[in-house]
This record gives sequence, C-alpha cells and structure tokens, in this order.
Amino acid sequence: MDERVFNGEKGSVCAVLLAAGSSRRMGSNKQLMTFGGRTPIELCLSAFAPFAESAVVVVSEDTASAAQKAAAKLAGEGAYPSGIRIVLGGERRQDSVLNALTVSEADFVAVHDCARCLVTPDVIEPSIACAFENGCGVASVRSVDTLRLEASGAVVDRESLLAAQTPQTFLREKLLEAYEAAGTESTFTDDAAIWAAAGNALFYSPGSRLNFKLTTPEDAALFAALLEKSEAKITSNEPLMRLRVGFGEDTHRLVEGRKLILGGVEIPFQYGLLGNSDADVLTHALIDAVLGACALGDIGQHFPDSDPAYKGVNSLLLARSAAASAREHGFILNNLDATLVCQRPKLAAYRNAMRENLAEAFSLPVGRVSVKFTTPEHTGPEGRGESITARAAASVLEAADSE
Ligand code: MG
Repeated sequence: MDERVFNGEKGSVCAVLLAAGSSRRMGSNKQLMTFGGRTPIELCLSAFAPFAESAVVVVSEDTASAAQKAAAKLAGEGAYPSGIRIVLGGERRQDSVLNALTVSEADFVAVHDCARCLVTPDVIEPSIACAFENGCGVASVRSVDTLRLEASGAVVDRESLLAAQTPQTFLREKLLEAYEAAGTESTFTDDAAIWAAAGNALFYSPGSRLNFKLTTPEDAALFAALLEKSEAKITSNEPLMRLRVGFGEDTHRLVEGRKLILGGVEIPFQYGLLGNSDADVLTHALIDAVLGACALGDIGQHFPDSDPAYKGVNSLLLARSAAASAREHGFILNNLDATLVCQRPKLAAYRNAMRENLAEAFSLPVGRVSVKFTTPEHTGPEGRGESITARAAASVLEAADSE
C-alpha cells in the first residue's frame, strides 16, 4: 500500500464514506440528488481523492448503483490507486462503519458522512494531519449562536462546547479495538463517541461552518447554490478567473535626426522614429494590447498625440500609467508578447534589455514579457527601411463574477 508522510510519520489513508442512511428527514433519498450532475457520493469521493489512497463507500441497496457509478468515474480518472470498495451498511451508523473498518487495510481511516458533500480540503487535510500526530482528528466547530437550556432558559457557556462534524480520522486498528470494546448494545452517534468510550483521548481539528449536512429538503437549494459557486474550484483548484486577450499594432516612420528607442532602449542607428513622444513603437503596441484586453480604449484616447504634455515623453511612463489603469479596473496583467517588424538595424542583442524595461514598466516578471524580431525580406515600407512596425498581444485575468 502507498505510504504518505504527515508530521514525520508514515502511513496510508482510507476514506470511509457513509451513504447508507435512510434520509428520514429528507423524505426522498438525499444520496440520489444531484448537484451540477454529481451525487453527494461523487462529490465526496472527489474531495477525498487527493488525501487517501483507498476508499470504502458504505451504501444501502438504494444507493449502491450511485456509488458504483461514482467509483467507476473516479477510478477512471486515476484516483484511489489502492482501490475503491463498496460495502453494504448495517442497521445503525456504527454497524456501517464497522463493516468498512473490517475491509479496509489502511493505517488511518477518515470517516465522513456523504451528506456533508460541501466538505473542502481545508477541513479534510487538518483532520488527517491531526490523526497522524495524535491518533485521532475530529473536525469540529464552535457555536456562534447563543445556546440555552430549553427547560430552565439558562445560557450555556458556548466556549465549553464543540459541535462535531466529519471527517473524523483515526488509527484504524485502534478504532477497531474501540468498536470491539463498545460491543453491540449501546448506540453511538459518531466515531468520536466510540473512541472516547474506550478511554482514548479526543483531539480536534478545525471544521467549517460551510461543512453543512444535507438534512432537510430546504437544504437542497442552498447546497445547489453553494456548489455552483465552488464548482470551478472543485474541478480545477484554480481561482474563479476569466482570461481575456488584447491585440495592439503601431507603425512609426524612420527619419534622420531622431533617436531610435525601442522598449525603452536607445539603439545606435543613423535613423530614429518620428513621433510626438519618444516614438517607442514597441511600447506603444504593447500599451494598446493591454488596453484592448481590458476594453479600455486605445493609446490615442489615453495619451493624445496632440497633447504637448506628451512631447518627447518616455513611453515607458505611458506604459506604467496604462498598466495602473488596467489594475484600477480590476484586471490582473498576465503576459505580454510582441514582434517588431524591422529590416535594419539588427536588434537581437537588445532583446533582454527591452524585456527588462517593459517588465518593470508593466509590473510583470521578465519571464512573462516576450519580445521577438522579424525582418520583412526587404518587402513593404518596413523592408525598405521607411518605418518600423510592432504587433503585440496581451492577456489579462478578471474575476469571473465581475460582470
Ligand atoms: Mg505610436
């Protein structure tokens, strides 16, 4: 069996997923509901897959086929290399867990109610880590509500209370011993109770207020809404961002008596580019690409040619201002790419200096700024040395819910 290291200890983990409940409060069987096409069993198998080498899904006759479908899908994706077992549950919760404990061979079992199908890695990982360190890790939360004894009306000190959730992770053999010690007479509501009844110390890991249990029919709409929000995170682990791209192009005439400045680098040459600013055609094309990706107009609208304020201006300052404007509108610059169409002079030696200037101006790592050169085979105005043209692309990210 694969081994995993937590806090210096080695051991394997099995996810024990309980889906055998009778759903008395729900009316219909909640394990057969779907959220975005996925049953609670599939959602939980997906959630635990990064943390466990094997899984045991405990089912009833009603939920067996949903479990088989989900197990086949996850196995097909390469999850759970040590296998997914499906076993029938028993009369009570503890009978179901015992069935799973006896078929599992893992060092640790993370027992979880499939009704808590909103469970996230930030709840699963600490429970397992706590068990590796202490023998058990019970996901728990404190109450934020005032708690009162119904009969007397007395307020209970909520600092002394913990609400237990799942997952609850344990050393499997020690939990099995606790089950044997508990016998079959008494009924327990969770594994922590059986563990503690056998004289074992309880250790808690942080649960989450969002780790709800799908219980009543009203919960279904709430779950659907929450899962729709988190669906992209569950499947990709990426933040909810949308990619946008922009294009920019610029041409300036080569004339005598002007400096040739490209990407903020002054290049020794007998001609320079004509323009109101420093006529840095490369930087101008990149500015237009960034503005285009953000649909914020073009360089002429932001920095008019006719404005004397921009006479002779260093175009890198305009780039800095355009990048700031993009960020103020909520965009994150992702990468830049440009091609200079230029017959003469040779530019390759200046590539890295240009990239570094542009990266600084647009506040990007140099690795996300590309500058390329092409000679137009003496064709067209660029090929005849009359002008230099730059073409550029930019990509930016925006929050997916920003519209
Ligand atoms: Mg220009």
